[in-house]
Amino acid sequence: EEKKSISFVEQIIEGDLAEGKNGGKIQTRFPPEPNGYIHIGHAKAICMDFGAAEKYGGVCNLRFDDTNPSKENTEYVDSILNDIQWLGFKWANVYYASDYFQKLWDFAVWMIQKGLAYVDEQTSEQIAAQKGTPTCPGTESPYRNRPVEESLRLFNEMNTAESVEGSMVLRAKLDMANPNMHFRDPVIYRIIHTPHHRTGTKWHAYPMYDFAHGQSDYFEGVTHSICTLEFVPHRPLYDKFIDLLKEYEGEAGNITDNRPRQIEFNRLNLTYTVMSKRKLHTLVDEHLVEGWDDPRMPTVCGMRRRGYSSQSIRNFIDSIGYTKFDALNDYALLEAAVRDDLNKKACRVSAVLNPVKLVITNYPEGQTEKLEAVNNPENEADGTHTITFSRELWIERDDFMEDAPKKFFRLTPGKEVRLKNSYIIMCTGCKKDSEGNIEEIYAEYDPTSRSGMEGANRKVKGTLHWLSIAHCEKAEVRLYDRLFNVENTAADERDFHELLNPESLKVLNNCYVESYLKERNVGDFLQFQRIGYFTIDKDSTPMHLVFNRTVGLKDTWAK
Ligand code: ATP
Ligand code: MG
Ligand code: MG
Repeated sequence: EEKKSISFVEQIIEGDLAEGKNGGKIQTRFPPEPNGYIHIGHAKAICMDFGAAEKYGGVCNLRFDDTNPSKENTEYVDSILNDIQWLGFKWANVYYASDYFQKLWDFAVWMIQKGLAYVDEQTSEQIAAQKGTPTCPGTESPYRNRPVEESLRLFNEMNTAESVEGSMVLRAKLDMANPNMHFRDPVIYRIIHTPHHRTGTKWHAYPMYDFAHGQSDYFEGVTHSICTLEFVPHRPLYDKFIDLLKEYEGEAGNITDNRPRQIEFNRLNLTYTVMSKRKLHTLVDEHLVEGWDDPRMPTVCGMRRRGYSSQSIRNFIDSIGYTKFDALNDYALLEAAVRDDLNKKACRVSAVLNPVKLVITNYPEGQTEKLEAVNNPENEADGTHTITFSRELWIERDDFMEDAPKKFFRLTPGKEVRLKNSYIIMCTGCKKDSEGNIEEIYAEYDPTSRSGMEGANRKVKGTLHWLSIAHCEKAEVRLYDRLFNVENTAADERDFHELLNPESLKVLNNCYVESYLKERNVGDFLQFQRIGYFTIDKDSTPMHLVFNRTVGLKDTWAK
Protein backbone atom coordinates (compact mmCIF):
# COMPACT_ATOMS: atom_id res chain seq x y z
CA GLU A 1 0.00 0.00 0.00
CA GLU A 2 1.26 3.43 -1.02
CA LYS A 3 1.64 5.72 2.00
CA LYS A 4 2.07 9.46 1.96
CA SER A 5 2.75 11.68 4.95
CA ILE A 6 0.01 11.58 7.56
CA SER A 7 -2.50 14.39 7.98
CA PHE A 8 -2.55 16.75 10.95
CA VAL A 9 -5.72 15.00 12.13
CA GLU A 10 -3.89 11.68 12.19
CA GLN A 11 -1.02 13.34 14.04
CA ILE A 12 -3.47 14.47 16.73
CA ILE A 13 -4.93 10.99 16.97
CA GLU A 14 -1.46 9.44 17.22
CA GLY A 15 -0.57 11.96 19.94
CA ASP A 16 -3.69 11.05 21.91
CA LEU A 17 -2.92 7.36 21.52
CA ALA A 18 0.65 7.91 22.70
CA GLU A 19 -0.67 9.71 25.78
CA GLY A 20 -3.01 6.82 26.47
CA LYS A 21 -6.11 9.00 26.24
CA ASN A 22 -9.49 7.25 26.23
CA GLY A 23 -7.81 4.00 27.17
CA GLY A 24 -6.31 3.70 23.72
CA LYS A 25 -9.76 3.62 22.14
CA ILE A 26 -10.51 5.35 18.84
CA GLN A 27 -14.11 6.07 17.90
CA THR A 28 -15.29 8.41 15.19
CA ARG A 29 -18.62 9.10 13.52
CA PHE A 30 -19.90 10.47 10.24
CA PRO A 31 -22.85 12.73 11.17
CA PRO A 32 -24.98 13.68 8.15
CA GLU A 33 -28.23 15.50 8.53
CA PRO A 34 -30.68 13.54 6.33
CA ASN A 35 -31.82 16.69 4.53
CA GLY A 36 -30.36 16.00 1.08
CA TYR A 37 -28.16 13.64 -0.91
CA ILE A 38 -24.48 13.57 -0.03
CA HIS A 39 -21.93 15.16 -2.35
CA ILE A 40 -18.22 14.79 -2.92
CA GLY A 41 -17.56 17.18 0.00
CA HIS A 42 -19.31 14.76 2.32
CA ALA A 43 -17.23 12.00 0.72
CA LYS A 44 -14.14 13.82 1.97
CA ALA A 45 -15.51 13.78 5.52
CA ILE A 46 -16.47 10.11 5.09
CA CYS A 47 -12.93 9.20 3.96
CA MET A 48 -11.55 10.96 7.05
CA ASP A 49 -14.03 9.60 9.60
CA PHE A 50 -14.05 6.01 8.39
CA GLY A 51 -10.42 6.07 7.24
CA ALA A 52 -9.03 7.23 10.60
CA ALA A 53 -11.03 4.63 12.54
CA GLU A 54 -9.89 1.89 10.17
CA LYS A 55 -6.27 2.99 10.28
CA TYR A 56 -6.07 3.07 14.08
CA GLY A 57 -8.10 -0.05 14.77
CA GLY A 58 -11.12 1.88 15.99
CA VAL A 59 -14.75 2.04 14.99
CA CYS A 60 -16.69 4.56 12.99
CA ASN A 61 -20.44 4.86 13.39
CA LEU A 62 -22.89 6.48 11.08
CA ARG A 63 -25.02 8.93 13.02
CA PHE A 64 -27.89 10.78 11.46
CA ASP A 65 -28.09 14.23 13.02
CA ASP A 66 -31.83 14.36 12.57
CA THR A 67 -32.86 17.20 14.84
CA ASN A 68 -34.77 19.32 12.31
CA PRO A 69 -37.82 17.39 11.04
CA SER A 70 -38.90 20.18 8.72
CA LYS A 71 -36.11 19.33 6.26
CA GLU A 72 -35.49 15.63 6.77
CA ASN A 73 -36.92 12.43 5.36
CA THR A 74 -36.23 8.74 4.88
CA GLU A 75 -35.45 9.10 1.17
CA TYR A 76 -32.30 10.96 2.24
CA VAL A 77 -31.51 8.40 4.93
CA ASP A 78 -31.69 5.57 2.39
CA SER A 79 -29.59 7.38 -0.18
CA ILE A 80 -26.89 8.17 2.40
CA LEU A 81 -26.72 4.52 3.53
CA ASN A 82 -26.38 3.43 -0.08
CA ASP A 83 -23.79 6.04 -1.08
CA ILE A 84 -21.47 5.36 1.87
CA GLN A 85 -21.45 1.66 1.02
CA TRP A 86 -20.79 2.41 -2.61
CA LEU A 87 -17.78 4.48 -1.56
CA GLY A 88 -16.53 1.30 0.08
CA PHE A 89 -16.94 2.05 3.79
CA LYS A 90 -18.64 0.02 6.53
CA TRP A 91 -20.05 1.52 9.71
CA ALA A 92 -20.04 -0.33 13.01
CA ASN A 93 -23.51 0.96 14.00
CA VAL A 94 -26.18 3.25 12.65
CA TYR A 95 -27.31 5.77 15.27
CA TYR A 96 -29.76 8.65 15.20
CA ALA A 97 -29.61 11.83 17.25
CA SER A 98 -33.39 11.37 17.54
CA ASP A 99 -32.67 8.30 19.72
CA TYR A 100 -31.40 10.77 22.33
CA PHE A 101 -34.38 13.14 22.32
CA GLN A 102 -35.49 11.98 25.78
CA LYS A 103 -31.98 12.17 27.25
CA LEU A 104 -31.44 15.61 25.78
CA TRP A 105 -34.80 16.74 27.11
CA ASP A 106 -33.93 15.54 30.60
CA PHE A 107 -30.58 17.29 30.43
CA ALA A 108 -32.28 20.51 29.30
CA VAL A 109 -34.70 20.26 32.25
CA TRP A 110 -31.69 19.88 34.54
CA MET A 111 -30.15 23.00 32.97
CA ILE A 112 -33.32 24.95 33.70
CA GLN A 113 -33.39 23.66 37.28
CA LYS A 114 -29.78 24.75 37.76
CA GLY A 115 -30.62 28.22 36.50
CA LEU A 116 -28.59 27.55 33.34
CA ALA A 117 -31.43 27.84 30.82
CA TYR A 118 -34.64 29.84 30.42
CA VAL A 119 -37.57 30.09 28.08
CA ASP A 120 -37.52 33.26 26.01
CA GLU A 121 -40.82 34.49 24.54
CA GLN A 122 -39.30 37.10 22.27
CA THR A 123 -39.33 36.77 18.49
CA SER A 124 -36.21 35.55 16.70
CA GLU A 125 -35.77 39.09 15.33
CA GLN A 126 -35.79 40.58 18.83
CA ILE A 127 -33.30 37.98 20.02
CA ALA A 128 -31.04 38.63 17.05
CA ALA A 129 -31.18 42.40 17.64
CA GLN A 130 -29.91 41.86 21.20
CA LYS A 131 -26.90 39.73 20.20
CA GLY A 132 -24.47 42.66 19.96
CA THR A 133 -21.25 42.42 17.98
CA PRO A 134 -18.01 40.59 18.77
CA THR A 135 -16.62 43.80 20.29
CA CYS A 136 -19.85 45.03 21.84
CA PRO A 137 -21.72 42.99 24.50
CA GLY A 138 -25.28 41.91 23.83
CA THR A 139 -28.40 42.94 25.73
CA GLU A 140 -29.97 40.55 28.21
CA SER A 141 -33.41 39.25 27.42
CA PRO A 142 -36.19 40.50 29.69
CA TYR A 143 -36.99 36.81 30.31
CA ARG A 144 -33.45 35.92 31.36
CA ASN A 145 -34.10 35.94 35.07
CA ARG A 146 -37.64 34.58 35.11
CA PRO A 147 -38.38 31.98 37.83
CA VAL A 148 -37.18 28.41 37.20
CA GLU A 149 -40.75 27.11 37.69
CA GLU A 150 -42.04 29.40 34.96
CA SER A 151 -39.38 28.22 32.49
CA LEU A 152 -40.10 24.59 33.34
CA ARG A 153 -43.83 25.09 32.77
CA LEU A 154 -43.26 26.90 29.46
CA PHE A 155 -40.66 24.36 28.29
CA ASN A 156 -43.30 21.66 28.75
CA GLU A 157 -45.80 23.85 26.93
CA MET A 158 -43.37 24.23 24.01
CA ASN A 159 -43.50 20.48 23.64
CA THR A 160 -47.27 20.24 23.08
CA ALA A 161 -49.25 20.18 19.85
CA GLU A 162 -50.90 23.47 20.86
CA SER A 163 -47.69 25.51 20.99
CA VAL A 164 -47.05 28.03 18.24
CA GLU A 165 -43.86 27.75 16.19
CA GLY A 166 -41.61 30.73 16.88
CA SER A 167 -43.50 31.83 19.99
CA MET A 168 -40.91 30.55 22.48
CA VAL A 169 -37.41 29.08 22.55
CA LEU A 170 -35.24 27.64 25.27
CA ARG A 171 -31.92 29.46 25.66
CA ALA A 172 -28.83 28.49 27.61
CA LYS A 173 -28.00 31.19 30.17
CA LEU A 174 -24.30 31.65 29.48
CA ASP A 175 -22.63 34.99 28.84
CA MET A 176 -24.11 37.88 26.86
CA ALA A 177 -20.72 39.65 26.85
CA ASN A 178 -18.59 36.74 25.65
CA PRO A 179 -16.50 37.66 22.60
CA ASN A 180 -17.52 34.28 21.17
CA MET A 181 -21.00 35.04 19.86
CA HIS A 182 -22.06 31.41 20.29
CA PHE A 183 -21.95 31.95 24.07
CA ARG A 184 -24.47 34.77 24.06
CA ASP A 185 -27.35 32.72 25.41
CA PRO A 186 -27.66 30.39 22.41
CA VAL A 187 -31.06 28.99 21.51
CA ILE A 188 -31.01 25.30 22.43
CA TYR A 189 -34.63 24.25 21.77
CA ARG A 190 -37.27 25.43 19.31
CA ILE A 191 -40.82 24.41 18.41
CA ILE A 192 -41.39 22.45 15.17
CA HIS A 193 -44.68 20.75 14.34
CA THR A 194 -43.66 18.94 11.15
CA PRO A 195 -43.76 15.23 12.00
CA HIS A 196 -40.35 13.68 12.46
CA HIS A 197 -39.30 10.88 10.06
CA ARG A 198 -38.70 8.55 13.03
CA THR A 199 -40.48 9.89 16.10
CA GLY A 200 -43.58 11.15 14.32
CA THR A 201 -45.53 13.64 16.46
CA LYS A 202 -44.10 12.53 19.80
CA TRP A 203 -42.01 15.70 20.05
CA HIS A 204 -42.81 19.33 19.35
CA ALA A 205 -39.70 20.90 20.84
CA TYR A 206 -36.43 19.93 19.17
CA PRO A 207 -32.81 20.53 20.21
CA MET A 208 -30.61 22.75 18.08
CA TYR A 209 -27.48 21.32 16.43
CA ASP A 210 -25.15 22.76 19.11
CA PHE A 211 -27.22 21.18 21.86
CA ALA A 212 -27.38 17.78 20.19
CA HIS A 213 -24.13 17.13 18.37
CA GLY A 214 -21.55 17.08 21.15
CA GLN A 215 -23.97 15.40 23.54
CA SER A 216 -24.63 12.65 20.99
CA ASP A 217 -20.88 12.21 20.61
CA TYR A 218 -20.63 11.85 24.38
CA PHE A 219 -23.52 9.37 24.68
CA GLU A 220 -21.93 7.18 22.03
CA GLY A 221 -18.38 7.30 23.37
CA VAL A 222 -16.90 9.15 20.41
CA THR A 223 -13.25 10.02 21.03
CA HIS A 224 -12.52 12.18 18.00
CA SER A 225 -15.32 14.27 16.56
CA ILE A 226 -13.91 15.34 13.22
CA CYS A 227 -15.72 18.06 11.29
CA THR A 228 -15.11 21.01 9.01
CA LEU A 229 -13.59 24.40 9.76
CA GLU A 230 -16.85 26.34 10.10
CA PHE A 231 -17.25 24.59 13.46
CA VAL A 232 -14.05 26.08 14.93
CA PRO A 233 -15.99 28.90 16.66
CA HIS A 234 -18.50 26.34 17.98
CA ARG A 235 -15.80 24.29 19.70
CA PRO A 236 -15.78 26.19 23.03
CA LEU A 237 -19.55 25.74 23.24
CA TYR A 238 -19.17 22.07 22.29
CA ASP A 239 -16.72 21.68 25.20
CA LYS A 240 -18.92 23.72 27.54
CA PHE A 241 -22.01 21.58 26.98
CA ILE A 242 -19.93 18.44 27.47
CA ASP A 243 -18.63 19.80 30.78
CA LEU A 244 -22.22 20.43 31.89
CA LEU A 245 -23.38 17.06 30.59
CA LYS A 246 -20.62 15.29 32.53
CA GLU A 247 -21.65 17.18 35.65
CA TYR A 248 -25.29 16.18 35.09
CA GLU A 249 -24.39 12.56 34.42
CA GLY A 250 -22.01 12.58 37.37
CA GLU A 251 -24.84 13.67 39.68
CA ALA A 252 -26.75 10.62 38.50
CA GLY A 253 -23.73 8.43 39.25
CA ASN A 254 -22.65 8.00 35.62
CA ILE A 255 -18.99 8.88 35.77
CA THR A 256 -16.84 8.21 32.70
CA ASP A 257 -13.46 9.36 31.47
CA ASN A 258 -14.82 9.85 28.02
CA ARG A 259 -14.41 13.30 26.53
CA PRO A 260 -14.92 13.65 22.79
CA ARG A 261 -12.49 15.99 21.11
CA GLN A 262 -13.56 18.14 18.17
CA ILE A 263 -11.02 18.48 15.34
CA GLU A 264 -11.68 20.59 12.25
CA PHE A 265 -10.31 20.25 8.71
CA ASN A 266 -10.90 22.20 5.50
CA ARG A 267 -13.99 21.62 3.40
CA LEU A 268 -13.73 20.32 -0.12
CA ASN A 269 -14.75 22.98 -2.63
CA LEU A 270 -14.65 22.28 -6.35
CA THR A 271 -14.38 24.61 -9.30
CA TYR A 272 -17.33 24.94 -11.70
CA THR A 273 -19.92 23.53 -9.32
CA VAL A 274 -21.84 24.29 -6.14
CA MET A 275 -21.53 22.45 -2.86
CA SER A 276 -24.22 24.13 -0.79
CA LYS A 277 -27.15 21.87 -0.02
CA ARG A 278 -29.51 24.79 -0.45
CA LYS A 279 -28.30 25.41 -4.00
CA LEU A 280 -28.34 21.71 -4.84
CA HIS A 281 -31.95 21.59 -3.64
CA THR A 282 -32.75 24.54 -5.89
CA LEU A 283 -31.18 22.83 -8.92
CA VAL A 284 -33.38 19.79 -8.32
CA ASP A 285 -36.57 21.62 -7.32
CA GLU A 286 -36.45 23.98 -10.29
CA HIS A 287 -35.65 21.11 -12.69
CA LEU A 288 -32.42 22.78 -13.74
CA VAL A 289 -31.03 19.24 -13.60
CA GLU A 290 -32.81 15.93 -13.92
CA GLY A 291 -32.56 15.07 -10.22
CA TRP A 292 -30.08 14.47 -7.42
CA ASP A 293 -28.40 11.81 -9.56
CA ASP A 294 -28.11 13.93 -12.68
CA PRO A 295 -24.60 13.11 -13.98
CA ARG A 296 -23.67 16.81 -13.82
CA MET A 297 -24.33 17.01 -10.08
CA PRO A 298 -21.46 16.89 -7.54
CA THR A 299 -23.47 14.35 -5.57
CA VAL A 300 -22.10 10.88 -4.98
CA CYS A 301 -25.06 9.37 -6.83
CA GLY A 302 -24.59 11.83 -9.73
CA MET A 303 -20.94 10.92 -10.04
CA ARG A 304 -21.79 7.22 -9.90
CA ARG A 305 -24.33 7.66 -12.70
CA ARG A 306 -21.81 9.70 -14.65
CA GLY A 307 -19.50 6.66 -14.54
CA TYR A 308 -16.95 7.76 -11.94
CA SER A 309 -15.53 4.84 -9.98
CA SER A 310 -15.63 5.11 -6.19
CA GLN A 311 -11.90 4.40 -6.19
CA SER A 312 -11.20 7.44 -8.33
CA ILE A 313 -13.18 9.67 -5.95
CA ARG A 314 -11.21 8.26 -3.02
CA ASN A 315 -7.91 8.68 -4.83
CA PHE A 316 -8.77 12.30 -5.59
CA ILE A 317 -9.67 13.01 -1.95
CA ASP A 318 -6.43 11.36 -0.89
CA SER A 319 -4.45 13.50 -3.26
CA ILE A 320 -5.86 16.84 -2.07
CA GLY A 321 -5.36 15.97 1.59
CA TYR A 322 -6.59 17.58 4.81
CA THR A 323 -5.43 21.00 5.99
CA LYS A 324 -6.58 23.86 8.21
CA PHE A 325 -7.14 26.28 5.33
CA ASP A 326 -10.09 26.42 3.01
CA ALA A 327 -9.22 26.23 -0.67
CA LEU A 328 -10.82 25.71 -4.04
CA ASN A 329 -9.95 22.37 -5.62
CA ASP A 330 -9.55 22.07 -9.37
CA TYR A 331 -12.24 19.91 -11.03
CA ALA A 332 -9.59 18.89 -13.57
CA LEU A 333 -7.73 17.06 -10.77
CA LEU A 334 -10.82 15.00 -10.05
CA GLU A 335 -11.17 14.20 -13.75
CA ALA A 336 -7.51 13.19 -13.94
CA ALA A 337 -8.11 10.77 -11.06
CA VAL A 338 -11.14 9.37 -12.88
CA ARG A 339 -9.16 8.83 -16.12
CA ASP A 340 -6.32 7.26 -14.25
CA ASP A 341 -8.55 4.70 -12.55
CA LEU A 342 -10.80 4.02 -15.55
CA ASN A 343 -7.77 3.42 -17.74
CA LYS A 344 -7.19 0.32 -15.60
CA LYS A 345 -10.83 -0.75 -15.51
CA ALA A 346 -12.69 0.29 -18.64
CA CYS A 347 -13.56 -2.15 -21.38
CA ARG A 348 -12.41 -0.86 -24.77
CA VAL A 349 -15.18 -0.81 -27.34
CA SER A 350 -16.05 1.06 -30.51
CA ALA A 351 -18.72 3.68 -30.91
CA VAL A 352 -19.31 6.08 -33.77
CA LEU A 353 -20.90 9.29 -32.60
CA ASN A 354 -21.13 11.13 -35.92
CA PRO A 355 -21.43 8.39 -38.53
CA VAL A 356 -20.68 8.31 -42.26
CA LYS A 357 -20.77 5.19 -44.41
CA LEU A 358 -17.56 3.55 -45.61
CA VAL A 359 -17.79 0.85 -48.32
CA ILE A 360 -14.91 -1.62 -48.74
CA THR A 361 -15.42 -2.10 -52.48
CA ASN A 362 -13.19 -5.17 -52.87
CA TYR A 363 -14.73 -7.03 -49.89
CA PRO A 364 -17.34 -9.54 -51.08
CA GLU A 365 -20.96 -8.60 -50.51
CA GLY A 366 -22.65 -10.78 -47.89
CA GLN A 367 -19.34 -11.93 -46.40
CA THR A 368 -18.62 -11.36 -42.69
CA GLU A 369 -15.69 -12.10 -40.44
CA LYS A 370 -15.49 -12.50 -36.66
CA LEU A 371 -12.52 -10.71 -35.14
CA GLU A 372 -11.16 -10.53 -31.64
CA ALA A 373 -11.02 -7.29 -29.71
CA VAL A 374 -8.93 -7.00 -26.54
CA ASN A 375 -11.05 -5.69 -23.66
CA ASN A 376 -8.27 -3.88 -21.90
CA PRO A 377 -4.63 -3.73 -22.97
CA GLU A 378 -3.79 -2.68 -19.37
CA ASN A 379 -5.22 -5.91 -17.97
CA GLU A 380 -4.98 -9.17 -19.87
CA ALA A 381 -7.32 -10.90 -17.38
CA ASP A 382 -10.21 -8.84 -18.75
CA GLY A 383 -10.16 -11.06 -21.85
CA THR A 384 -11.54 -10.33 -25.28
CA HIS A 385 -14.85 -9.98 -27.06
CA THR A 386 -15.92 -10.56 -30.64
CA ILE A 387 -16.52 -7.92 -33.27
CA THR A 388 -17.72 -8.41 -36.83
CA PHE A 389 -16.20 -7.04 -40.03
CA SER A 390 -18.14 -6.66 -43.29
CA ARG A 391 -18.25 -4.66 -46.53
CA GLU A 392 -20.23 -1.68 -45.15
CA LEU A 393 -19.00 0.17 -42.12
CA TRP A 394 -19.69 3.28 -40.06
CA ILE A 395 -16.76 5.56 -39.35
CA GLU A 396 -16.64 9.05 -37.84
CA ARG A 397 -17.36 11.83 -40.32
CA ASP A 398 -14.35 13.73 -38.92
CA ASP A 399 -12.07 10.86 -39.84
CA PHE A 400 -12.40 11.63 -43.55
CA MET A 401 -11.26 14.65 -45.55
CA GLU A 402 -11.40 14.89 -49.29
CA ASP A 403 -8.66 17.51 -49.57
CA ALA A 404 -6.52 16.87 -46.54
CA PRO A 405 -3.43 18.70 -45.36
CA LYS A 406 -0.18 16.70 -45.18
CA LYS A 407 -0.44 16.08 -41.44
CA PHE A 408 -3.91 14.52 -41.69
CA PHE A 409 -3.29 10.89 -40.74
CA ARG A 410 -6.85 9.72 -41.10
CA LEU A 411 -8.77 8.79 -44.26
CA THR A 412 -8.20 10.72 -47.50
CA PRO A 413 -8.04 9.53 -51.12
CA GLY A 414 -4.80 7.76 -52.01
CA LYS A 415 -3.69 7.12 -48.41
CA GLU A 416 -3.73 4.09 -46.14
CA VAL A 417 -5.09 3.76 -42.61
CA ARG A 418 -5.50 0.82 -40.31
CA LEU A 419 -8.95 -0.18 -39.09
CA LYS A 420 -8.65 -1.11 -35.40
CA ASN A 421 -8.40 -4.90 -34.87
CA SER A 422 -8.81 -5.61 -38.61
CA TYR A 423 -7.35 -4.59 -41.98
CA ILE A 424 -5.33 -1.85 -43.58
CA ILE A 425 -7.43 -0.01 -46.16
CA MET A 426 -6.64 2.47 -48.95
CA CYS A 427 -9.14 5.23 -49.63
CA THR A 428 -10.27 5.39 -53.27
CA GLY A 429 -12.81 8.23 -53.21
CA CYS A 430 -16.23 9.31 -52.08
CA LYS A 431 -19.74 10.16 -53.26
CA LYS A 432 -21.33 13.54 -52.59
CA ASP A 433 -24.87 14.88 -52.79
CA SER A 434 -25.81 17.92 -54.89
CA GLU A 435 -24.74 20.25 -52.06
CA GLY A 436 -21.33 18.67 -51.72
CA ASN A 437 -22.03 16.72 -48.50
CA ILE A 438 -20.19 13.43 -48.26
CA GLU A 439 -22.66 10.54 -48.55
CA GLU A 440 -20.34 7.56 -48.84
CA ILE A 441 -16.64 6.92 -48.73
CA TYR A 442 -14.91 4.16 -50.70
CA ALA A 443 -11.84 2.13 -49.87
CA GLU A 444 -10.12 -1.15 -50.75
CA TYR A 445 -8.75 -3.47 -48.13
CA ASP A 446 -5.53 -5.46 -48.18
CA PRO A 447 -6.56 -9.08 -47.40
CA THR A 448 -3.05 -9.88 -46.10
CA SER A 449 -3.06 -7.08 -43.54
CA ARG A 450 -5.40 -8.35 -40.87
CA SER A 451 -4.10 -7.94 -37.30
CA GLY A 452 -1.63 -10.76 -36.67
CA MET A 453 -0.91 -11.38 -40.38
CA GLU A 454 2.36 -10.68 -42.21
CA GLY A 455 1.00 -7.67 -44.10
CA ALA A 456 -0.15 -5.96 -40.89
CA ASN A 457 3.41 -5.05 -39.95
CA ARG A 458 3.97 -2.15 -42.31
CA LYS A 459 3.98 1.41 -41.02
CA VAL A 460 0.60 3.09 -41.28
CA LYS A 461 0.17 6.32 -39.37
CA GLY A 462 -3.52 6.38 -38.53
CA THR A 463 -5.79 3.85 -36.84
CA LEU A 464 -9.55 4.40 -37.03
CA HIS A 465 -12.41 2.85 -35.09
CA TRP A 466 -15.35 1.50 -37.07
CA LEU A 467 -18.54 -0.55 -36.82
CA SER A 468 -20.11 -3.00 -39.22
CA ILE A 469 -23.41 -1.41 -40.24
CA ALA A 470 -25.24 -4.72 -40.10
CA HIS A 471 -23.76 -5.65 -36.72
CA CYS A 472 -24.15 -2.61 -34.52
CA GLU A 473 -26.82 -0.87 -32.47
CA LYS A 474 -28.21 2.59 -32.61
CA ALA A 475 -27.62 4.55 -29.41
CA GLU A 476 -28.25 7.80 -27.61
CA VAL A 477 -25.13 9.39 -26.21
CA ARG A 478 -25.22 12.13 -23.58
CA LEU A 479 -22.22 14.41 -23.50
CA TYR A 480 -21.81 16.21 -20.18
CA ASP A 481 -19.77 19.26 -19.44
CA ARG A 482 -19.26 21.38 -16.36
CA LEU A 483 -22.51 22.54 -14.80
CA PHE A 484 -21.38 26.14 -14.25
CA ASN A 485 -19.35 28.49 -16.40
CA VAL A 486 -17.67 30.13 -13.44
CA GLU A 487 -14.67 28.75 -11.61
CA ASN A 488 -15.56 29.93 -8.12
CA THR A 489 -19.35 29.99 -7.95
CA ALA A 490 -19.45 30.70 -4.22
CA ALA A 491 -17.45 33.90 -4.68
CA ASP A 492 -19.56 35.21 -7.56
CA GLU A 493 -22.07 37.87 -6.61
CA ARG A 494 -24.47 37.19 -9.45
CA ASP A 495 -27.48 34.98 -8.91
CA PHE A 496 -26.27 31.42 -9.39
CA HIS A 497 -28.83 30.80 -12.15
CA GLU A 498 -26.86 33.22 -14.30
CA LEU A 499 -23.73 31.17 -13.83
CA LEU A 500 -25.14 27.92 -15.22
CA ASN A 501 -23.48 26.54 -18.34
CA PRO A 502 -26.28 26.33 -20.95
CA GLU A 503 -24.26 23.67 -22.79
CA SER A 504 -23.67 21.33 -19.89
CA LEU A 505 -25.64 18.59 -21.67
CA LYS A 506 -25.58 17.67 -25.36
CA VAL A 507 -27.64 14.72 -26.51
CA LEU A 508 -26.57 12.85 -29.66
CA ASN A 509 -29.31 10.65 -31.08
CA ASN A 510 -27.66 9.24 -34.16
CA CYS A 511 -24.81 7.22 -32.70
CA TYR A 512 -23.86 3.58 -33.14
CA VAL A 513 -22.17 1.17 -30.77
CA GLU A 514 -21.03 -2.45 -30.87
CA SER A 515 -23.83 -5.00 -30.45
CA TYR A 516 -21.70 -6.44 -27.65
CA LEU A 517 -22.82 -3.53 -25.48
CA LYS A 518 -26.33 -4.97 -25.34
CA GLU A 519 -24.84 -7.58 -23.00
CA ARG A 520 -23.27 -5.05 -20.66
CA ASN A 521 -24.84 -3.52 -17.56
CA VAL A 522 -25.81 -0.12 -16.27
CA GLY A 523 -22.78 1.51 -14.64
CA ASP A 524 -20.16 -0.59 -16.45
CA PHE A 525 -16.92 1.26 -17.12
CA LEU A 526 -16.33 1.62 -20.87
CA GLN A 527 -13.88 3.36 -23.10
CA PHE A 528 -15.15 4.37 -26.52
CA GLN A 529 -11.82 4.10 -28.27
CA ARG A 530 -10.32 7.43 -29.35
CA ILE A 531 -13.28 9.31 -27.78
CA GLY A 532 -13.46 8.98 -24.03
CA TYR A 533 -14.78 7.07 -21.05
CA PHE A 534 -18.46 6.24 -21.01
CA THR A 535 -20.96 4.25 -19.01
CA ILE A 536 -24.41 2.80 -19.59
CA ASP A 537 -27.11 5.04 -18.14
CA LYS A 538 -29.99 3.79 -16.00
CA ASP A 539 -32.37 5.01 -18.74
CA SER A 540 -30.87 2.47 -21.14
CA THR A 541 -32.98 -0.47 -22.41
CA PRO A 542 -32.09 -3.17 -24.95
CA MET A 543 -34.34 -1.35 -27.43
CA HIS A 544 -32.87 2.07 -26.71
CA LEU A 545 -29.30 2.11 -25.50
CA VAL A 546 -28.22 5.22 -23.60
CA PHE A 547 -24.64 6.13 -22.71
CA ASN A 548 -23.18 8.87 -20.53
CA ARG A 549 -19.83 10.40 -21.25
CA THR A 550 -17.89 10.13 -18.01
CA VAL A 551 -14.87 12.13 -19.11
CA GLY A 552 -12.91 12.68 -22.31
CA LEU A 553 -9.60 10.93 -22.90
CA LYS A 554 -7.65 14.13 -22.38
CA ASP A 555 -8.15 17.31 -20.42
CA THR A 556 -9.64 19.64 -23.01
CA TRP A 557 -10.76 22.40 -20.69
CA ALA A 558 -9.22 25.70 -21.62
CA LYS A 559 -6.90 26.91 -18.90
P1 ATP B 1 -26.13 21.55 6.05
O1 ATP B 1 -25.34 22.06 7.22
O2 ATP B 1 -26.76 22.59 5.21
O3 ATP B 1 -27.05 20.45 6.41
P2 ATP B 1 -23.76 20.11 5.28
O4 ATP B 1 -23.24 19.93 3.90
O5 ATP B 1 -22.87 20.68 6.30
O6 ATP B 1 -25.08 20.95 5.06
P3 ATP B 1 -24.17 17.83 7.00
O7 ATP B 1 -25.12 16.73 6.80
O8 ATP B 1 -24.26 18.64 8.23
O9 ATP B 1 -24.32 18.72 5.73
O10 ATP B 1 -22.69 17.27 6.85
C1 ATP B 1 -22.26 16.06 7.39
C2 ATP B 1 -20.76 16.08 7.56
O11 ATP B 1 -20.12 16.32 6.31
C3 ATP B 1 -20.32 17.19 8.49
O12 ATP B 1 -19.38 16.67 9.41
C4 ATP B 1 -19.68 18.20 7.60
O13 ATP B 1 -18.65 18.88 8.26
C5 ATP B 1 -19.18 17.36 6.43
N1 ATP B 1 -19.13 18.14 5.20
C6 ATP B 1 -20.14 18.80 4.62
N2 ATP B 1 -19.72 19.45 3.51
C7 ATP B 1 -18.40 19.19 3.39
C8 ATP B 1 -17.39 19.57 2.44
N3 ATP B 1 -17.66 20.36 1.40
N4 ATP B 1 -16.15 19.10 2.61
C9 ATP B 1 -15.87 18.28 3.65
N5 ATP B 1 -16.75 17.89 4.58
C10 ATP B 1 -18.02 18.33 4.46
MG1 MG C 1 -25.87 20.17 8.84
MG1 MG D 1 -23.25 21.46 8.07
